[in-house]
Amino acid sequence: MSENVAQEAIGPIAVSIAEFLEFGCAYCGFNSGSATFVDSSNAVWRCHECDRECVVLTEGAINSPFGFRLDEDFIYYPELEDHPRRGIPAHEIK
Ligand SMILES: [Zn+2]
Repeated sequence: MSENVAQEAIGPIAVSIAEFLEFGCAYCGFNSGSATFVDSSNAVWRCHECDRECVVLTEGAINSPFGFRLDEDFIYYPELEDHPRRGIPAHEIK
């Protein structure tokens, strides 16, 4: 199989809960969606505006406990990233 090229661009982003609450969806900044998978402290969240998923990590966590199968033999575990929309407040339905 090929190396990890482009996997980062494809897989969900993982952000901290604090940044998620402030800046919303990691892709579009929307503040409403639903958790599609949860464990005791982390969640996979699907945005109701752009319909993409991101991982919301509890404070202090640096790795997603949830893996995403990106192809037959590669499961991607997102690592904590700075929120891509840091500094732009989350928006509501317009
Ligand atoms: Zn979104």
